Amino acid sequence: MPIDLYLLHTKLEDLKKKYQNLSYLETDPICFPKQYQDPLDIEVVSFISCLYAYGNVKSIQGFLKPIFLNLGKSPYQTLLGQDSKFQSVLSGLKVYRFQTKKDNQIFFRTLARVVAEKEKKSPLLESYFLDSKEVFEETKSIQRFQSFWEEELKKTSGKKNLSYGLQFLIGKSTAKSPKKRLSLFLRWMVRNSYPDFGLYKKIHANQIPFPLDVHIQKLIQVLGITTRKSFGVKESYLTREFFKQLNPVDPLLYDFYLTRVGIIEKCNATYKKDVCETCYLKEVCLVFGSATGN
Ligand code: SF4
Repeated sequence: MPIDLYLLHTKLEDLKKKYQNLSYLETDPICFPKQYQDPLDIEVVSFISCLYAYGNVKSIQGFLKPIFLNLGKSPYQTLLGQDSKFQSVLSGLKVYRFQTKKDNQIFFRTLARVVAEKEKKSPLLESYFLDSKEVFEETKSIQRFQSFWEEELKKTSGKKNLSYGLQFLIGKSTAKSPKKRLSLFLRWMVRNSYPDFGLYKKIHANQIPFPLDVHIQKLIQVLGITTRKSFGVKESYLTREFFKQLNPVDPLLYDFYLTRVGIIEKCNATYKKDVCETCYLKEVCLVFGSATGN
């Protein structure tokens, strides 16, 4: 059955109204950059937060909170300074899932060096996505950004190959995976409305891939947007194309609100009475429809 775009749009707008409230930011890694005013701080904190945004919310927060505390009032200035304060950040780093303490130290030393080599103005990292004509290319830009970091991380580590943890952290440039953490970083940096920051001006909101995290992967199935079971970068762009029908200029508008259905409402893409009966999406959800006959 074709998707009723009008009804879906209405339900997504309802969802947006519900979750467009500052208290819901606490359930998302965007809560970290939201604590800063200076665009330079927002950008470096966003980059760090997105790269480590895998695993559950509690473990992400447990790892990142002490780091940002140690980086002080201005994480950008601490990275730039590379002084004793930065050294104590490095020694305080812990293991995080696939990253050893050493991996994390190499990453932070690399970030500090890259930041120090840049002009002291915002944005710091946008140019690494762009080609020589300063254009964002769908098929190449995220890979280009990853290749840049792969080389910089190798430089810092002094090794020809990256460790598993460092490779996982930045993602493999040649992989066809959905590159969801970098897509999320782009969403934060490019979209200029709530809850994102709009710091990057050369990349447009309708150019970036839809961040296909596990919650979105489930939701686009139950909403009938895709029948695919495996997700790669191609599906990220196909999902963005679908949402362009609802908003051609800002197709990622509903990403934050949709992920709340997974994170807060605990949608598991299966019918559970207590969860589904109060869900704002039940009228457009295939799972709810087939379980209840509605
Ligand atoms: S109705 Fe249930 S399965 Fe469907 S989106 Fe809502 S919580 Fe998920």
